[in-house]
Amino acid sequence: MPQDNRTNRPAQHSPYQNRPAPQNRAQNRPAPQGQQGAYNPQYNQQQLYYKKLAKEKRRRMLRRRRIVFGCFVLCLCLLIFFVLRFALQKNDKNSPASAPASVATSTPASLPAAAQSTPPQNASTPPSTSVSTPAPEATAVPTNVDLSSWELLLANANNPIAEGYVPELALVDTQQHQFDKRAAPALKKMIADGNATGLQLMICSAYRSHERQTTLFNQLVSENKAKGMSEEEAVAKAKTIRNVPGTSEHETGLAADIVSVKHQVLEETFENTPEFAWLSENAHKYGFILRYSREKSAITGTIYEPWHYRYVGVENATAIKEQGICLEEYIAANG
Ligand SMILES: [Zn+2]
Repeated sequence: MPQDNRTNRPAQHSPYQNRPAPQNRAQNRPAPQGQQGAYNPQYNQQQLYYKKLAKEKRRRMLRRRRIVFGCFVLCLCLLIFFVLRFALQKNDKNSPASAPASVATSTPASLPAAAQSTPPQNASTPPSTSVSTPAPEATAVPTNVDLSSWELLLANANNPIAEGYVPELALVDTQQHQFDKRAAPALKKMIADGNATGLQLMICSAYRSHERQTTLFNQLVSENKAKGMSEEEAVAKAKTIRNVPGTSEHETGLAADIVSVKHQVLEETFENTPEFAWLSENAHKYGFILRYSREKSAITGTIYEPWHYRYVGVENATAIKEQGICLEEYIAANG
């Protein structure tokens, strides 16, 4: 019975079946010169065996090469896929946000009724999602955004705050400024951490009651009329500076105007202070966003306010900052 030398078992079905029993080297050599051409069955059998072995080896090597090549092609495809995906996402970020913009600005102002008893965020989103959200954008934003969360309460000209809405409040500084109790610790910590680095951050406005907002707005209208504007002009002008009562984020208790002790006027020049630089860099870590950026004023409907910060929670703030979008766009993209 032929033996498989590697296992010492009888090689019943292996290609080594014909392997002859081990022989000494002299036997394996070709026949001596004088006997060349003479038929040597043992020698031929051995040659046959080695040919078979070489063939088997070649076949294995080919198979191995094919597997390696297959893996290489697969890796290449994956690489191309990720590169393309990354490029598409980047493209999306850089492209003008015209789609969400058009949606946000064209949202019909028929939402007060819907916003009466529940936060109005749900009222603003339905029309926008089906129209504007492009497919790649959907993969770029977190999929588990809870739009019904209090953190994403949307207040703007098209989304008034529910009548009588007053959050549970907490004091956030010694100046008696109040904030939504759930977000107050984050605001206090942000101010404290910033000031611990040597800055002089201070809150100059936080929660405002509806009555207070109404008083401030009417004051502005009166000032404009005193300058010679008609009632209509005075109101229109006031709207560009201050939100109409019922649509101001300050009434939600989730927004604060933050300035520097050295720069207490609410003017764009605040953006040149180290306090603004620090807030731009760090606010999202505490759950805050710069609510009214210069680039998005057409969508937010509010002028650039480098001092106005809005609490939306750390995850939302981080996503909004990373994507370079405003709250209206974020809500539209996740609706
Ligand atoms: Zn403000």
